[in-house]
Amino acid sequence: MNLYFKIKRAIACFLIQEKIKTKLDEPLISFSFDDAPNSAFVAGRSILNKYGYKATYYISLGIREQDNPQKGYFETAHLKEVIAEGGELACHTYSHIHFYTSSIKSLQNDLEENQRKLNEILPEYRFSNFSYPYGEQTISGKVLVRSKFRSARSVKAGINSNPVDLNNLRALQLEKSLTLEKAFEYIDQTIAQKGWLIFYSHDIQDDCSSWGCTPSFFEQVVKYCSDRKLNVRTIDQGLDLLKVRK
Ligand SMILES: [Zn+2]
Repeated sequence: MNLYFKIKRAIACFLIQEKIKTKLDEPLISFSFDDAPNSAFVAGRSILNKYGYKATYYISLGIREQDNPQKGYFETAHLKEVIAEGGELACHTYSHIHFYTSSIKSLQNDLEENQRKLNEILPEYRFSNFSYPYGEQTISGKVLVRSKFRSARSVKAGINSNPVDLNNLRALQLEKSLTLEKAFEYIDQTIAQKGWLIFYSHDIQDDCSSWGCTPSFFEQVVKYCSDRKLNVRTIDQGLDLLKVRK
């Protein structure tokens, strides 16, 4: 990302905030996936189900439609299964659009298109939460997102604790270069400060991309949470615990 866009994002994050003062009774963990590749819905979901956990899947229905089928984005059945199991589908724009170079009108159309396409599959379901593609944030984009969603997740590493910026939730990527020690350290810090740690990843497979991790790595992180009997919730359930308006 060039310096101009970095400054643009920093200013947007400084000017547009939705901070709430809140105190959790106990630490909170969420698992989420961006885009999300087929392996997130299959390997990632099956590991979480083994431990009784559900995740939030931030999806861009357009990238699936435009994708080479061999690459393997999610199937329609997966979306229905996630909802039937008590998981969450969240919005990641329709076309995985760039905030920095798009007009507000095209952003608006893109968000509406993602909702419309989802309703062709799940007629009643409405996205409540959002994650910024590429982590890109602009002033007008953040205002738009704030008007449409309960929360918006960034790609900035950190633990959400008092105050929590609902328009810029921090998260930790479970990515190829992350060490288990680092992931565990974040969990330990979350426990110490009774914060909210949101993990996100992409593909969960042995030959993972730089933005994903292996099933073995993913399971060790999930197990670390389970061994400590941590409260693991979807993003929307986490917001309920924080008493955020619907
Ligand atoms: Zn993405």
